[in-house]
Amino acid sequence: MLTPDQQTAIEPFIDESTGLVNLLGLSMDKMTAFFAAIGEKPFRAQQVMKWIHHLGAESVDEMTNISKNLRATLKDIVEIRAPEILTQKDSADGTRKWVMKVASGNSVETVYIPDGERGTLCVSSQVGCSLDCSFCSTGKQGFMRDLTPAEIIGQVWLAAKSFDSLKPNSKRYVTNVVMMGMGEPLLNFDAVVDAMNIMRNDFGYGISKRRVTLSTSGVVPALNRLSAVTDVSLAISLHAPNDELRNELVPINRKYPISELLQACRDYMNDLPDTHRVTTVEYTLIKGVNDSPEQARALAKLLNDFPCKINLIPFNPFPNSGYEKPSMNAVKRFQTLLMQSDFVVTVRSTRGDDIDAACGQLVGQVQDKTRRSARYQQKSVESKRIKIVHSA
Ligand code: SF4
Repeated sequence: MLTPDQQTAIEPFIDESTGLVNLLGLSMDKMTAFFAAIGEKPFRAQQVMKWIHHLGAESVDEMTNISKNLRATLKDIVEIRAPEILTQKDSADGTRKWVMKVASGNSVETVYIPDGERGTLCVSSQVGCSLDCSFCSTGKQGFMRDLTPAEIIGQVWLAAKSFDSLKPNSKRYVTNVVMMGMGEPLLNFDAVVDAMNIMRNDFGYGISKRRVTLSTSGVVPALNRLSAVTDVSLAISLHAPNDELRNELVPINRKYPISELLQACRDYMNDLPDTHRVTTVEYTLIKGVNDSPEQARALAKLLNDFPCKINLIPFNPFPNSGYEKPSMNAVKRFQTLLMQSDFVVTVRSTRGDDIDAACGQLVGQVQDKTRRSARYQQKSVESKRIKIVHSA
């Protein structure tokens, strides 16, 4: 039983929807503060983090190195609750994709992409997204809500458990995490930072700073706050070599143009204690939109003195996207032109084709219900009509 003072002290940790403290989403600092609030020493936080994130414990009953009395107290006030797996699909190439149901009936996607010794988990941060990038399946579904820290780290926890890797001496499957799934992570700043801290912490998943990557479309004020709370790697969704085109593809550019975004990345990197860190520039190549040789040269010029590597992503069409995949020739040509300007340039290979690879596609099939989606489908029909009229 907690005293009235202790009950008051744990209130900041309580999830309003359940009236319980979800231990899964507490970072080490918050876990320590929670145990301090109920009169326990800091080592309890380490014990519980290990049980949950190293050993996959699903209830305090499993935590046998914690006294029976404390377990009885905890059972009244805490839970360990992850999202619920609705579907899990395995691709022939080893890619695994989940649709996970989160509180209030919404769903998000998580994708695991193996590549040799590396296993990258692409994690969602919001249900839907408010930023409406023109080529993005998630953006077409509109924004529903932010995920909680437990719902974000819960994707890592469930993925690891699905490979049976939360057991003593088991192989680690998830070696890298990219915050690149549904949603704009910097618009859910505190929850994403908490979840990334659990990924990084040795009592969590112990993943190095270079192997946890936050990808942003360019929420500059939040990016300016990031180095104070984390040291993870950074990726930006650029997709265009100039503001005019980026305003169309990534509408947040109208608020925070390319020059401000690049400066915020420079400042973040300069704030980190270690040198030789560079920003990853993500550039989705869309046929006839941003894949010409002139645009490759313009991109090289734009990034001339910006420390970065470039990841080219051939657009992966989804129903009613209105855009097309670039030819392999166009992708090669774009890559070669950038490499001739001494950039390190990778091309993301398409993975999991047989299980719907485009981000947001699976959930889109399940809950494509927003007004934005309806508007978008209408727009798509209209633009097809226009194309037919033009070609007649
Ligand atoms: S690309 Fe990212 S930021 Fe843009 S709409 Fe999609 S999820 Fe949101």
